[in-house]
Amino acid sequence: MNKIHHLIDGKTVPGTSGRSKPVFNPATGEVTSEVDLASTAEVDSAVQVAEKAYREWRDTSIAKRTSLMYDFRALCIANRDEIARRLTSEHGKVLSDSAGELARGIENIEFACGMSEALKGSLSSNASTGIDVSTIRQPLGVVAGITPFNFPAMIPLWTIPNAIAAGNAFILKPSERDPSTPMFIAELFHEAGFPDGLLNVVNGDKEAVDALLEHELVRAISFVGSTPIARYIYATGTANGKRVQALAGAKNHMVVLPDADINMAADAAVSAGFGSAGERCMAISVVVAVGDSAGPLIEAIKERTDRLVIGDGTDAASEMGPLITEEHRDRVASYIQAGADAGATVVVDGRENTFDGNGFFLGASLIDNVTTDMSVYTDEIFGPVLSVVRVDTFDEAIDMIEKNAWGNGTALFTRDGGAARRFQHEVEAGMVGINVPVPVPVGYHSFGGWNDSFFGDTTMYGPEGLRFYTRPKVTTTRWPDPSTSSVNLGFPTNE
Ligand code: NAD
Repeated sequence: MNKIHHLIDGKTVPGTSGRSKPVFNPATGEVTSEVDLASTAEVDSAVQVAEKAYREWRDTSIAKRTSLMYDFRALCIANRDEIARRLTSEHGKVLSDSAGELARGIENIEFACGMSEALKGSLSSNASTGIDVSTIRQPLGVVAGITPFNFPAMIPLWTIPNAIAAGNAFILKPSERDPSTPMFIAELFHEAGFPDGLLNVVNGDKEAVDALLEHELVRAISFVGSTPIARYIYATGTANGKRVQALAGAKNHMVVLPDADINMAADAAVSAGFGSAGERCMAISVVVAVGDSAGPLIEAIKERTDRLVIGDGTDAASEMGPLITEEHRDRVASYIQAGADAGATVVVDGRENTFDGNGFFLGASLIDNVTTDMSVYTDEIFGPVLSVVRVDTFDEAIDMIEKNAWGNGTALFTRDGGAARRFQHEVEAGMVGINVPVPVPVGYHSFGGWNDSFFGDTTMYGPEGLRFYTRPKVTTTRWPDPSTSSVNLGFPTNE
């Protein structure tokens, strides 16, 4: 049985807690590995090593940090196929999707390669007579990332490059459901030449997370995962005096106006609803069909859904893979019945698809006539189930999104520029797509939702992410002028 250990101080370290968990290939249902689950003491040893590495790293020149980051980027690109293979074998998504997620992660390494520009400070010369004031941003120390199963390459890369390039040391606690990919990326990080101890991976569950939340040397926590856990991480981390950014669950709406290009909207709904088996925090899970758009739109989505090729993600013909675990697959399937029982119309029932073997597969489902009191609407399903809510007006669509608890991403399909502008300004969500169904910001903007999709104030990656991993230091300077000498007991004046 393949064992997945920890990566501490640049070395693979077998776990000592005596606890481990099976890792599955979701396409076959087989257990492929056992991952060690770290104890509080193992987390402490990683944090101590990271603190030591940080104290040297913070004094390493930006030129050196940047050059290593370029080498890391090159290694991620050179190993793209191997990363995608590992990712698909534990997550299940199709290989092209795995490669695509890595490419989106690499954007963040590229942003970090520009640290020389991004970390430039500011200077106010002669702020008061003979006095200069400057601001620089300095690293925090040891910071930690706790990441979900659904993007095991991209989400660790949302955080590690910025944190490291800014001068911090990092502890990654990846999802215990697909840990091989982040472990491999951390190995490439070391191969690039970064010092030992700067990036440590502790595999684990709640015990490891709690140890990070309580450790006095961990200065900041970046979390991505479900809303209940995000709430817990934010409350516990901030109570322990840490900076916390906690990105959470979602229920993303795609509004289709009657003037929209119906084929474009249907293509978008299918790819954003069923891509990665709907296990994306930016997946579309509710299509809001306004007025006359409903009939032709549902017909076009149904026709595309019926044609979807579902199978092992390593098969080049597959467009959608399995779900992450058997329990999750069964939970997702239960929502189709719940929708039908509540009076919705099941247009395509994914439970009717049949699959060979023991993989965690479920077909894609389309449910029409959903209302906002049904559990298919109120709950985050996180699977290939697309609900359609019909409304008469654009106002009702905007109002529905505002009343929904989450606010991660949303999209509008229309040809009307005025409607698009109004949507962009009024809609209650952190990331907006206009004729773009999954508006994940590029690496030089920042990622984060609103309301129950985000706890904290500084969102992830890009300029906001860099702020999160640095703190300002302001220095006020006066040099003695030998020609004048006077005692001044007051504050500097504005003269
Ligand atoms: P999860 O909340 O179950 O797990 C996330 C992390 O928290 C994992 O590392 C896990 O080990 C840890 N964890 C789980 N239970 C814990 C507990 N009781 N105490 C402490 N730590 C715990 O999420 P998941 O199932 O891995 O990922 C799917 C969820 O993540 C979905 O809700 C999805 O919307 C969300 N997500 C959000 C974003 C975003 O950017 N907003 C991105 C990706 C995924």
